[in-house]
Amino acid sequence: MTGTLKERIAKVHQRIVAACRRAGRDPSEVKVVAVTKMVAAEHLTDALNCGLTVFGENRVQEFLKKYEAIGKAAEWHLIGHLQSNKAKYLVGKVALIHSLDSLKLAKLLDKLSVAHGAPWRVLVQVNVSGEKTKFGLSPEEVPGFLDAVQDLPGIEICGLMTMAPYEEDPERTRPVFRSLRQLRDEMARSRHYLNLEHLSMGMTNDFEVAVEEGATMVRIGSALFSDYYN
Ligand SMILES: *Cc1c(COP(=O)(O)O)cnc(C)c1O
Repeated sequence: MTGTLKERIAKVHQRIVAACRRAGRDPSEVKVVAVTKMVAAEHLTDALNCGLTVFGENRVQEFLKKYEAIGKAAEWHLIGHLQSNKAKYLVGKVALIHSLDSLKLAKLLDKLSVAHGAPWRVLVQVNVSGEKTKFGLSPEEVPGFLDAVQDLPGIEICGLMTMAPYEEDPERTRPVFRSLRQLRDEMARSRHYLNLEHLSMGMTNDFEVAVEEGATMVRIGSALFSDYYN
């Protein structure tokens, strides 16, 4: 990885702008979630000073350490699988959970929403590719799941999230992202009362394809921070 953090951020933004242009989209529709996992807390102020505002962590323990360091200076997103017994540690601290993947977790978050001070904003994680190693609902499970969580006032579903399999050629991830967008569109058509605005999809290797396919949030780690990994 070369260049300063500032240069790497600029480069990522340029690539998002170019992908938006190819797809006829407005770049202001795409939010960068800077994935700070494996980055030591002491580097987070650099990231803030360079203009990054939204940080994503995939593990609760690591998130809490960093939250202790900088607190609400950043908007925090939980992007990885959340075990039900850890949900309580996120109360009042995270702006969005990208990885809602079970009714059990939804019910627990619903109960914690009073302490949280608001309904939890969440995305439903969908395992589009069907890889055994990945969390998330199968696409077929999503309609029933949305109907089941509809009754929980402490949960506000804001959209869908997926992780594509790693591909040497990122173009090969396109069908995964397109399927998620189509699923979102179908669900929005059949369930007008839901606001499924967001599609969290795309990482360092494949974010341009994801943006072309409609991502509103890209989760970028190594393209920004690999110099800081130990
Ligand atoms: C680590 C991680 C990312 C970022 O991955 P990079 O390839 O480093 O950009 C995005 N989403 C999730 C869920 C992750 O765990």
